[in-house]
Formats: sequence, C-alpha cells, structure tokens
Amino acid sequence: MRVFKFGGASVKDAAGVRNLLSIVRQQTDDLVVVVSAMGKTTNALESIVDAIIRGDKPSVDAQWKALLAYHELIALDLGLDISEIMADEMFGAVMAHRNASNMPYDDLYDTIVSIGELISTAIVAAFMNKEGVKTKLWYMPELLITDGTFREAVVNNQASAQQVQHAWHDPYRPRVVVTQGFIGGMQSGHRTTLGREGSDYTAALVANYLNAESVTIWKDVPGILNADPRLEEHTVLIPELCYSEAVELAYSGAQVIHPKTIRPLENKHIPLFVKPFGAPGEAGTIIKDAPTEPVNVPVYIWRKNQVLITMRAKDFSFVLEDSLIRIFDVVRQCKLKVSLIQSSAVTVSVCVDESRSLMKAIQMLGEYYNVTYNAHLELLTIRGTTPDIIEREQRGRNILLSQLTRRTAKFVINTQSPTRSH
Ligand code: ASP
Ligand code: MG
Repeated sequence: MRVFKFGGASVKDAAGVRNLLSIVRQQTDDLVVVVSAMGKTTNALESIVDAIIRGDKPSVDAQWKALLAYHELIALDLGLDISEIMADEMFGAVMAHRNASNMPYDDLYDTIVSIGELISTAIVAAFMNKEGVKTKLWYMPELLITDGTFREAVVNNQASAQQVQHAWHDPYRPRVVVTQGFIGGMQSGHRTTLGREGSDYTAALVANYLNAESVTIWKDVPGILNADPRLEEHTVLIPELCYSEAVELAYSGAQVIHPKTIRPLENKHIPLFVKPFGAPGEAGTIIKDAPTEPVNVPVYIWRKNQVLITMRAKDFSFVLEDSLIRIFDVVRQCKLKVSLIQSSAVTVSVCVDESRSLMKAIQMLGEYYNVTYNAHLELLTIRGTTPDIIEREQRGRNILLSQLTRRTAKFVINTQSPTRSH
C-alpha cells in the first residue's frame, strides 16, 4: 500500500479535487489519501477562533458564512450537495461555540480548527464515490490517539497504530481510504491538532503503522528546490536527499515538508516522494536512506517571522548550564519554536518563531535576565555554502547575528524593527 498526501493548495478548488481523483485513478495499489483543509481554510478558522475569544459574534457569523459558502461552491461545482455530506457536528461546532469566549484558547482552537480537514475530506470522499472510485472515509480523531496538549498534541503511537491497523484490515475496506491530516483525538473523543502544517506528519505516521511502500506528498512545486522560486530567479530541483538532510532543510524553514515527517519514515526505511500535483509523471524529489546523487548546489532557506531574544544575567553570575535549563523551561512552557541558539560568556541568544505567547515568555525571562529582543526578523540558512556566497549574501544586509559552521551559514536579518528592552 502507499500513502498520498494532498495539501491545502492542491484541493483549493473543484479543479484541484478533480486532479486529485485523476492521480488516484492512475494507481493500482491500495491507498490511504491524507488531505488537508482546502486552500486557506485553516487560517480562516483561526480567525474565527480569535473572533469567538474577542466575543465578536457578528464577525464569527460573517466569517463562518463566508467559509461555508466557499465550500458549498466547490461541492456544487463537483455536483455534490454539501448538506448531505457535512455531518451535523461540522455545521454545528462553530455555532455551538459562538459564546465560548471564556473557553481556554488552545482547547477551543482544536475543536474549531479541526473542522477544516473534516469538511475537505467529506467533500473529497463523496466526490470519489460519486465518480465510481469506491472510497472509505476515516474519522482520524478516533484513530490517531493523542494526549491533551491542544495545538501541539503528542501522538500515542502504540494506541494509534492499533486503531489504524484495525481499520485497515477491515475485510470490507475498499482499495482507497480518505482521511484527515493534522488532526487527532484524545481517548475521550475530544479533537486535537498536531501543529500547523501537520498533515505531512499524519501521512508519515499512517505509512509507518501500515508499513507502506512509499509516501508521496503532492505539491504545487516540482519537488524540493534549492531555493524558494518566489524569491530566487534561478532554482534547481534536488532529485535526491537523505533523511537527515531533509530534516535539516525542514527545520531551517523550508516549507516543503513538516520537520516531524521524517522520523516515522526513516525508522521503517520508507521513501518519501515530493511531486508536483500538476505533472504527476515527473520524478520530483525522493528522500530515502542512501541517495546516489549528493546535493551539489548551495541550498537557501528562509524562515520568516523570527524574534531574536538576548538574555544577559542581571548579576553577572552567569552559569551557562543553569541558564540554559531555565531558559528552555520557559521556551517549553510557552511552546516557543527555537530556530537558533548562540551563547557568549555573559549572554544567551535564541531565535524563535513569532507566537502569541511571546510576551509572556519575555516577561518570565525578565525575572532573571535583562532581556532585549527584536521582532519581524528573518533567518536565512545557506547549506553547502562557500566563502564567496557568504561574502555576497552579507553585503548590504542588516545582520544581527551570524553563525557559521563548516557547511552551513545562518544569518538573522533585520528587515525593519528597532531593538526593544524589557
Ligand atoms: N490545514 C493545516 C494547516 O494549514 C494542516 C496542513 O495543511 O498540513 O496548517
Ligand atoms: Mg495547509
């Protein structure tokens, strides 16, 4: 069996869903098709959650109406009646939580944001069945069992493997199964999410549990490129990568795959293909154990929306080991995502993704350290770099911090904001 994953961009309209079907039709193997929310639905649902928390009911209603209309239109174009596809739970969840402004944010988030994947998969599965590709729709919150760390739920692999294998070995299962990426559920049935862009991770977990032949992530790019084609004029396709190199790229901010995706695949030596959904015949990129072609071009990766936090001990009694423990305890509590660490005799700097708990973290750190921070930064990572490249990339840029290792250069770049203190 194989696992296919289709991201939001690949199912953003009816043409995308038709294309998905044609790709599935070209397969004769058994398939689990993992699908994300359509287009920018996850962002829209996040914005609805924000409106609920603000208590802004007119905004909740207007946004939900627009989101429903978007899906209705796609369904209509595909010849489907959305009211027959969507379970009451999906229609009702937003309305049932209209007044839930006192609910804990993370909990509410998972209840509401998970609806995006439920709607998209309901539409995709209904369309495939209508078109004669017999398909079973799996409800992932009952199969992918997680703890209650809302927005970043931790998967219980043993329980989940059992559930997924059991569902897979159902004698009445058709050849094709469609299911949601990014979402899971607690034993209690409460829905959870695995972190933004988590659908790739779901696909990898399912592949691991079912010993898949391969995973294919269908994207709107030709495969993994050495730079973002929206930022660089000349990009080249990287035909092969090993697992660890892929993790490095993903962690540095390459948008092509979620960093958590690789481990479950590497553990079972399952190759991962990244292919263009617009040209399914093309080879794309393959990530596997031992590539035969080494990466021989420099790779540029931008990680945006970065904040550089620098901590200096208040009393100069800086003990690095103790400080690191304290700092990373705050990082963990506030669920910050660290992209770079650097230390000197009296300071530690960490670069993190912007997030809503940032100010809380800075306040907590402020108890022990003099903290300075800059927001709206970007982290540029160049792998396979040369002195020439480093020289060129530094020119004319406001670089706050650089880190050089043998093959990799990292620059934290200020594009706008002044330094602030706390
Ligand atoms: N729909 C989710 C998101 O946009 C998960 C995913 O696309 O992988 O973050
Ligand atoms: Mg997405």
